Amino acid sequence: MSHNRRRLTRPHRNVITLIVCMLVSGWTVSQLAALEAIDDPNSSQAIETERPVKYAIALHGGAGADPSQFNDEANAKRYESLEQALKIGVKILDEGGTALDAVEQVVVYLENDPQFNAGVGAVFNAAGSHELDAAIMDGRKKDCGAVAGVSRVKNPILLARQVMINTPHVLLAGLGAEEFAKQQGLDLVDPSYFDTPASRAAWEKRRQKQENEPLTRLLKPSPEDVGAYYGTVGCVALDSHGNLAAATSTGGMSNKKFGRVGDTPIIGAGTYADNETCAVSGTGIGEQFIRHNVAYDVAARMKYLKQDVQTAAKGIIEKQLNPDDGGIIAVSKTGQIAYEYNSLAMGGAAADSNGKYEIYWVKKK
Ligand code: ASP
Repeated sequence: MSHNRRRLTRPHRNVITLIVCMLVSGWTVSQLAALEAIDDPNSSQAIETERPVKYAIALHGGAGADPSQFNDEANAKRYESLEQALKIGVKILDEGGTALDAVEQVVVYLENDPQFNAGVGAVFNAAGSHELDAAIMDGRKKDCGAVAGVSRVKNPILLARQVMINTPHVLLAGLGAEEFAKQQGLDLVDPSYFDTPASRAAWEKRRQKQENEPLTRLLKPSPEDVGAYYGTVGCVALDSHGNLAAATSTGGMSNKKFGRVGDTPIIGAGTYADNETCAVSGTGIGEQFIRHNVAYDVAARMKYLKQDVQTAAKGIIEKQLNPDDGGIIAVSKTGQIAYEYNSLAMGGAAADSNGKYEIYWVKKK
């Protein structure tokens, strides 16, 4: 007994008193564990639990585009759209809605906006038409749905959700996917619905440039390619029920070879969500995102290396991808948001229930 008492030094007694006080005031074991982690300077998880949020959301409007490439009016319009999209997601989450509904509705809004390379405004492929890709993922049970190469579905993200909930499959492509859209009663449009003068002009420019390049080589975008491919859209969210979701939609890359499928509908490449770790949406050179399993890699770094979402996202963007490849948004299960890119810029927005509210684009004049 006396031996035991001798071992209870003053610091020990202080710790015990602290623990008793915390337990009495309703602290949970996990909160105590988190506190312990804060003592460990190598534990980035400690940061994750500092300010718990009820919900969090981030969205992007494509990697590459830089506000300095647009005039004031175009910048103002893009800013307003990003903010409006954010408001749609925040409202759903603030009213206790699901992350799945929030990411879907944000992406629907951006698909319906011709400024972005998703839905109306999608880029042209080498055959002068449009082939759209989209994916959605529910972090609860890793349910997911995706569509590739659709040309007549007004909102590909809605079709991706139907694939998730009304088929045993993950990915439907081309004509079959469109037939399924018809069966589900989704809006079908003439392919010309997706045309905009801006994306056509960007395509013409791109075609000329690509004519002098070997066909096997994917031309890297350069700053003068404004509108050539910029504007893939994506959204990630954590809801007040503790669930994560991700959604991404794109027309792909301007002048892409017909039949080409990018990273967006490839689960784990451009889109991923798992309640255990995070939700991720990517934008950029799709082939690179597929090669590096970018979206899943963020989750894997968190799961196996115990990295926080910021470190994980930075790791893949800075150390695995090539400069200018693109960017990602991610939200962790605790509501921490990562917004990382190595391209010229990446438009987007983020908010959470603790008051974060940011639009990543030049402010309206
Ligand atoms: N990642 C898309 C694709 O490769 C394009 C983009 O995000 O700009 O299809």
